[in-house]
Amino acid sequence: MKFVSRSGWGARGPKSVTRLSSARGVKVHYVGSPVTSVPAVKCATGCRNKIRAIQRQHMDGNGWSDIAYNLLVCEHGVVWEGRGARVMSAANGPGLNSGHYAVCALIGSKGLTEPTDALLDGLRDAIEYLRKYGAGNEIKGHRDGYSTSCPGPQLYAWVKAGAPRPKSTNPTEAMVKKLPLLKKGSKGVHVKTMHYLLLARDYAGLDGVDDMTFTGAHEAGIRGLQKAAGIDVDGLVGNDTWAVLLRVA
Ligand SMILES: [Zn+2]
Ligand SMILES: [Zn+2]
Repeated sequence: MKFVSRSGWGARGPKSVTRLSSARGVKVHYVGSPVTSVPAVKCATGCRNKIRAIQRQHMDGNGWSDIAYNLLVCEHGVVWEGRGARVMSAANGPGLNSGHYAVCALIGSKGLTEPTDALLDGLRDAIEYLRKYGAGNEIKGHRDGYSTSCPGPQLYAWVKAGAPRPKSTNPTEAMVKKLPLLKKGSKGVHVKTMHYLLLARDYAGLDGVDDMTFTGAHEAGIRGLQKAAGIDVDGLVGNDTWAVLLRVA
């Protein structure tokens, strides 16, 4: 999880803090008003400024004791500490807020309205983080139990689906899906890639072996690798085997 603490974004101190020992779960919110997308390279300043502006609005505009949300998640998947864990949301006071932690996604009603995969991943990180601090299993949208459009149609649908982690956000996984299935007799640059990945793993059986053709020597190496990794030993290089070949640690 990419996490920025309150001090990391220069939060003002809260006017008051109400401790919350546990909660039934997490409620997901969105910013609601128009939100402008920030390029990934500007996250550290652009998203930070958005968080600071929300705190300013909540404290000076709404008169609340602090930024309302326990955590906030930007479109780049960074989890920003708001009130933090074990503290009641700063909006409105007790009542609804005492039941759930509040997590806000930095998307809005105009401009940036579509949650990115990185944002959904970050929201999931935020929910799992809060579960370590007393949040129960419920995941709801602000509109559950309150008349509001929050958290917007897309995020609400995601919440209703059980807030799943998006599938293709792991870059290795995404790359692996584009690689072809290789087997004995395959030829070409992907065989060459496999050849040198086997060499990089100190597989000794490739002396003088053609690096552009999938030979019996490669197959033996792949079987050894598959056995060591605990995956199906079939001598074929498909998604699971590519993932093992490409794994760094
Ligand atoms: Zn809300
Ligand atoms: Zn960001």
